[in-house]
Amino acid sequence: SPSLPTVNVAVLGATGSIGTATIDVLHHLDRIDETKTWNLWAASGHRNVQLLGELAGQFKCPPHQIVLSDPKSATEFAAGSTLANTQIKTGAEALVEIASAPEVDVVVAAIVGRAGLESTLAAIESGKRVALANKETLVVAGSLVQATLSNMASSGSRAEVLPVDSEHSAIFQCLGDKERGSASENTCKPRKLILTASGGPFRNASIRQMQDATPELALNHPTWDMGPKITIDSATMMNKALEVIEARWLFDIPAESIEVVVHPQSIIHSMVEFEDGSVMAQMSPPDMRLPIQYALTYPRRLACETPALDRTRQWDLTLQPVDRERFPALELGFEVARVGGTAGSVVNAANEEAVGLFLEGKIRFTDIVPACRRALEHHHFEPQPSLTRLLELDRWARAEVRKQYAT
Ligand code: NAD
Ligand code: MG
Repeated sequence: SPSLPTVNVAVLGATGSIGTATIDVLHHLDRIDETKTWNLWAASGHRNVQLLGELAGQFKCPPHQIVLSDPKSATEFAAGSTLANTQIKTGAEALVEIASAPEVDVVVAAIVGRAGLESTLAAIESGKRVALANKETLVVAGSLVQATLSNMASSGSRAEVLPVDSEHSAIFQCLGDKERGSASENTCKPRKLILTASGGPFRNASIRQMQDATPELALNHPTWDMGPKITIDSATMMNKALEVIEARWLFDIPAESIEVVVHPQSIIHSMVEFEDGSVMAQMSPPDMRLPIQYALTYPRRLACETPALDRTRQWDLTLQPVDRERFPALELGFEVARVGGTAGSVVNAANEEAVGLFLEGKIRFTDIVPACRRALEHHHFEPQPSLTRLLELDRWARAEVRKQYAT
C-alpha cells in the first residue's frame, strides 16, 4: 500500500553474490512487511551491465540512481537503458554520492574488497544504517570507523553499522539487543566471541596438496556459494582471519577474547560465551538471506525465505580446533587484530593482490599467506594512521606483492 512508510535502500555491489541475495530479500520484504514499503533507491555494479539492468527492471519503481563504477560499462548501460527516470553515473565518487544521498535510509555495503571503503565510510558519515558485508572496510580502517561512529553518536546521529557477515550477525544476535559489545558496566559481559569456520575446501588437505591446488579446486567451496575473492579467502582461512579483525572492531573486543573453531556443517554461525560459562549459539541453514534481512529489519524479525532445518533427519554438529600449521592465516589475523594501526590495511591489500595473482595462475595457493606476512613485516608500522596514510599503504603493499612475484 502506498500509504506505508518507505525504506529507501541503496545496494552497493548489487550484482554480486550478496547484492543479488539482497535484491531477493527486498522483493520478499516488500511482499510480506505489513508496516513498510521496501524500495531499491540506488544500485551499483562494476562491469556486469546486463545483470544490473535485469535487477533494476524487476522493480515497479526502478532505482533513481544506478552506478557502474567502470566508465565504459556505464556508457554501455546508458546506451541500452530503457529506464526513463533513472540517472546513470560512473566512478568511485558516484558510489560515495549514492551512499550519502539524503533520500537513502539504508546502505547495503556489498562491494568486494578495499574498493568498498570510501562509499561505506560515506554512508556512516551521512548517518545511514549500514548493513555491512564489506568486511574489508573494518579490516583496513576499523579504528577510524569506530571513532566516526562514536563522534556521530555524540552529535545525535543515528548512524549504525549492522553485520551482514553470518558469523558477526550470529554474535550480534547472541549478544541480544541491549547488551551487545563490551560496554563498560555490562552485566551480561561476553567472555569470548567464538567464530565458527567451515574449514573450506582444504579442511582435510595436506600442505602438499595445498601447494598444488588449482584455482578451480580452491573455488569449490563445500557449504557456501560466494564471490571468487571470499571463496579463495575461505580456502586459505584468510576469510576467518579478516573476520577476527572485523569482530575486534565491530564489537570493540580485544583479540584475546576472540576464538575460532572449525564447524564443517556451517549451521552454527558463531557463539558467545558469557562470564558464567554459558554459551549462546545462533543456528540456521547456510543462507545469507537471513543475516541480510536481519540487518535490514533489525530489531524486527520477519518471516524469511531461508528454509528451516529439516528436523526429521539426523544432523551432526561437529566442532574441531583449527590446525594453525596448515592455516597460518589465522595467526596473522589475530596479530593484526592485536596491533591495529596500519597492519590491517597492509595485510588486506597484500591479500587482495595475492588472491588476484593466484586466480591468474601466477602464484601458488600456498604463496598467498606468506606474501601477506612479508608485506606486514616489511612495512613501517604506525599505531594511529590517517585515512590517507592507510590508502598509501594499500597501494604500497600491492606493489610489494607484485614485485615479489615479477618475473
Ligand atoms: P562478488 O564478487 O560476488 O560481488 C562483488 C560486487 O562488488 C559486485 O557487485 C561487483 O560488481 C562489485 N565490484 C567489484 N569490484 C569493484 C570495484 N573495483 N569497484 C566497485 N565495485 C566493484 O562478492 P560477494 O561474495 O558478494 O562479496 C561481497 C562482500 O561481502 C565481500 O566483502 C565479502 O567478503 C562479503 N561477504 C560475502 C559473503 C557471501 O556469502 N558472498 C558472506 C559474508 C561476507
Ligand atoms: Mg563470514
